[in-house]
Amino acid sequence: MATTTLEDEGKQELEQIEIWRCKQPDCKAWTRKEFVTETLPDCPLCKNPMVRSYKHVPVVHKKSKKKG
Ligand SMILES: [Zn+2]
Repeated sequence: MATTTLEDEGKQELEQIEIWRCKQPDCKAWTRKEFVTETLPDCPLCKNPMVRSYKHVPVVHKKSKKKG
């Protein structure tokens, strides 16, 4: 597992996810690959083709609600 040193982020745990991101450098659009069903999706913002990529995002720990 690749680790990234992000001093500003403190000890935030990161996970690498697969994403589709817009080919346009100016466009910041990206989406999780797991949410995309199309083989080759278009950017929802500028309609340009998207490319496979990876992104590091903070790990979300699901908190379990305690009853009572
Ligand atoms: Zn775009």
